[in-house]
Amino acid sequence: MASVEKKEEHIKLVLVGDGGVGKTTFVQRHLTGEFEPRYIPTLGVSVHALIFYTNFGKIHFNVWDTAGQEKFGGLRDGYYIQGNCAIIMFDVTSRLSYKNVPNWHSDLTRVCENIPIVLCGNKVDVKDRKVKPSQIVFHRRYNLSYYDVSAKSNYNFEKPFVWLTSKLLGNKSVVLVQQPTLKLPETVIDQNLMSLYEKEVADAAARPLPDDD
Ligand code: GDP
Ligand code: MG
Repeated sequence: MASVEKKEEHIKLVLVGDGGVGKTTFVQRHLTGEFEPRYIPTLGVSVHALIFYTNFGKIHFNVWDTAGQEKFGGLRDGYYIQGNCAIIMFDVTSRLSYKNVPNWHSDLTRVCENIPIVLCGNKVDVKDRKVKPSQIVFHRRYNLSYYDVSAKSNYNFEKPFVWLTSKLLGNKSVVLVQQPTLKLPETVIDQNLMSLYEKEVADAAARPLPDDD
């Protein structure tokens, strides 16, 4: 697969979402041990090389993360330009961060047309979840995928990357042949609760979309 070889060094993944949702925590979980993040001072961005070993070979994402500029408004076009794929993250304990997802989506797709995008609801380890799986519908209108994640516990960490890889390769069935090396979990998740969430996400996906939002 020549295209995979070519893409290996070229997958720019744009990470967006409100300040405080856990973007930096998420991207820093992955320990390749091979590369230090690269800082681009003109844009105030750090680029993290995240490598995954799949049944289609080694996939190298360059994940772009801000230095916090998103707290003060939108990001510069240079952040988005030549993005190959994206993660839009919100925090399931913050309704406002979910409410802002459409704004991030429109900023992103204004510059990057037609790229694969994953929506991630982070911090699902927190017991007092405010955005319930059944309320998360935005992704269905725009053909994004959705995953509950928890950066602090590594829960579902690899899922968005595997889905994006399969889209980038043309809907191939992608699986990891080796688990990524991640930092040790900082919090323990309740497996029963996660099973319940998984069921709720599946149930929500099977329901028709509401008309009103
Ligand atoms: P960013 O502004 O989107 O880059 O968010 P940060 O990565 O700086 O995280 C903001 C805060 O959320 C920090 O205090 C993190 O420790 C916390 N945080 C990030 N991810 C998680 C998570 O999965 N669970 C919990 N409970 N806290 C998290
Ligand atoms: Mg950050």
